[in-house]
Amino acid sequence: MALLEVENLHIAVGSGGKLLPVVQGVSFCVDENETLGIVGESGCGKSLTSLAIMGLLGDSTVRITGGSIRFDGMDLLTLSAPERRAIMGNRMAMIFQEPMTSLNPVYRIGDQIAESIRQHQQISRSAARDRAVELLTLVRIPNPSERVDSFPHQMSGGQRQRVMIAMALSCDPKLLIADEPTTALDVTVQKEVLELMADLQDRMGTAIVLISHDLGVIAETCDKVAVMYRGKIAEAAATADLFAELAHPYTRGLLNSIPVVDRDVEWLEAIPGRVPTLEETLTGCAFHPRCALATDFCASRAPETSQFKPNHSVQCHFAGGSTT
Ligand code: SF4
Repeated sequence: MALLEVENLHIAVGSGGKLLPVVQGVSFCVDENETLGIVGESGCGKSLTSLAIMGLLGDSTVRITGGSIRFDGMDLLTLSAPERRAIMGNRMAMIFQEPMTSLNPVYRIGDQIAESIRQHQQISRSAARDRAVELLTLVRIPNPSERVDSFPHQMSGGQRQRVMIAMALSCDPKLLIADEPTTALDVTVQKEVLELMADLQDRMGTAIVLISHDLGVIAETCDKVAVMYRGKIAEAAATADLFAELAHPYTRGLLNSIPVVDRDVEWLEAIPGRVPTLEETLTGCAFHPRCALATDFCASRAPETSQFKPNHSVQCHFAGGSTT
């Protein structure tokens, strides 16, 4: 059995007395010691999916309207709030794009890590502080026994993200959800943080769900990939299989939008247009207004999920077709 199984998940946002679907029928699973990348532009539903797994949708206007989320044999959507809180930050943890929104600027980082540990473990303050130093060592913060007394503003962006990873790992979670963890960092630091996550996974066996808008980051880091577009999974496969043959025009557009540093142009080719807003009603395939392969059939009939290759699924009437 997979560690995490998301099955036919539906999430909707209440607006003007109506429920607008933001996530529609999303399914995937993640095994222990495996990394799943969820990729797509802003507004594709990938962050809401991860917040739903963590039980952090919070806002009463956003709600799960269908499906199931099973974690370590438990049906998370049937647990009580206290049962859910006992799992969060303990057996599953999350890190976000901007550490400063999660770190308290007026407390020393060692105190914040120790506090996180003591929320889930009955240990003394001095033992929690020792554990904080160990964790800072683990995430490769230089001089950890001194830096444990630093305030967040005294650290670089990359170091703050390492502190967030240390906090997330403080209770040895089985699942780590990382939502755009390196987007705010420059390329070199981004690479270091991704390597750190991979190294920690090797040592601790943690399953990781990595959310990113950057297919390049996903390609380097993940065992398998789910590409989301407007609340649905457009394409999903093992990373090697996906890149062996991209089946969905949206995935090909994402790949062509990766910055190329050694060329005169910054972007090879951006996907034309934008993700439609929730209020915009679309018939047929949600990608058709932006798709070079779109036909009248695409505009009238939404594609179902089909098997493109073994373990490689896609939602497109013309999967594998050329956009040129
Ligand atoms: Fe493009 Fe049609 Fe495939 Fe949608 S179904 S991605 S519009 S070719």
